Amino acid sequence: MDFSLSDNQLMYVDTVRKLVKNEITPHILEMEKSHKFPWSVIGKAWEMGIINLCIPESIKGFEVDVISSAMIIEEISYGDTGISTSAMCNDLANIVIAQHGTQEQKERFLRPFTERPILASFCLTEPAAGSDNSMMTSFIGKRDDGSYILNGSKCFITNASYASQYTVLCKVGKPTSNFMACVVIPVDKVTAAEIPDIGNDTRHIELPTGGKIIIGKPEDKLGQRLSNTASVTFEDVVIAPDQIIGDRRFGFKYIVDVLDYARPMVAAIGVGLAKRALAVTLDYTRERKQFGSRICDLPVARETITAMWKRVELAELALFKAACKIQEKAEDAGLYASLAKNTAAEAAIFCSTEGLHLHGGYGFTTEYEISKLARDAHIVDIYEGVREVQNMIIGREIV
Ligand SMILES: Cc1cc2nc3c(=O)[nH]c(=O)nc-3n(C[C@H](O)[C@H](O)[C@H](O)COP(=O)(O)OP(=O)(O)OC[C@H]3O[C@@H](n4cnc5c(N)ncnc54)[C@H](O)[C@@H]3O)c2cc1C
Repeated sequence: MDFSLSDNQLMYVDTVRKLVKNEITPHILEMEKSHKFPWSVIGKAWEMGIINLCIPESIKGFEVDVISSAMIIEEISYGDTGISTSAMCNDLANIVIAQHGTQEQKERFLRPFTERPILASFCLTEPAAGSDNSMMTSFIGKRDDGSYILNGSKCFITNASYASQYTVLCKVGKPTSNFMACVVIPVDKVTAAEIPDIGNDTRHIELPTGGKIIIGKPEDKLGQRLSNTASVTFEDVVIAPDQIIGDRRFGFKYIVDVLDYARPMVAAIGVGLAKRALAVTLDYTRERKQFGSRICDLPVARETITAMWKRVELAELALFKAACKIQEKAEDAGLYASLAKNTAAEAAIFCSTEGLHLHGGYGFTTEYEISKLARDAHIVDIYEGVREVQNMIIGREIV
């Protein structure tokens, strides 16, 4: 096993660090308070080639390997996990097309992402189908002309207010069907020029092919306030057969593939956040003196800082083991993806909570980044499958 980075990986890390250092870190508290959608950072990330990582080279994408993708996401997350969630969501929505789409579908649905900085949404969760997505009721019904009609509502969908394309998981034939399909709905392309900031508005999309999509008001979230999250309702949306990815009955299998890829990326988000929490805590406790000594030199505080460092390092090891397993398509990749996700979520929550504590009263104010990191950390333990679901997967696999 080799822990050294390739020239390409070093180049990626260096590129993202420059973006974070110049465009995110100096302004992060101000950006977060203003709650404006970070199009400018997304645009720069697109120009630098550090988003849309899964798009195949055959259609002028970067087709970045899983390990390098995890490094890129971790580095963006060191800057802000709302921005990395938004960026990562493009791959969440597009990987199923890259893995299971035909060459025509890849050309039609993926090429636009190589041409301008646009966003995609992955629509799985529903109000009554969260951890248990088999309970979803959105469905496509077949019409006499061979096309389908999609109806249903999704919730907590990242990028929904700004998305130029929706990847949707839905039942086939009826809401209680055992089969699930994956359909792709491209809409008018949205960049910063079309919707600079949605504010508190809803978005209505009339589709030229028939039906409409209604995006609810953005959720007012505890953390990750620079990512956009909203509900998405599909009303009589006409779906042509060539908008269905792969076999229209294999959606459950495709979700597993998507989530096996996505969980290490969420782990990368957690590791990036935990590293940032450790860094700002080290900076603070090296400066602040109490009892005649720097806080970082007080033995009990030093012990906490050491515990934070250990969590970061162990989470990063779990992340790269999972990324390697997925890269080599190992049979037990899912097991390690779940381990990485849980370990990174624990590290993010532990480091931000303990880091806030080591800032004392100052950590409880919005003047210090640690308070934002503590708010942002909780979602890492929830999205892409809550902690208990990861433990269910781990338990099932090892028993
Ligand atoms: C900011 C944000 C962004 C998101 N982005 C997306 C997105 O882009 N696309 C998308 O489809 N979804 C997205 N989601 C949805 C997210 O994946 C779900 O919120 C998550 O899967 C949990 O579902 P739920 O909220 O319905 O919680 P529930 O499933 O209702 O779970 C609530 C709690 O019950 C417990 N629990 C649940 N199941 C079990 C179990 N089997 N055993 C023991 N305890 C259990 C856990 O403590 C869990 O936290 C996002 C959510 C948020 C908040």
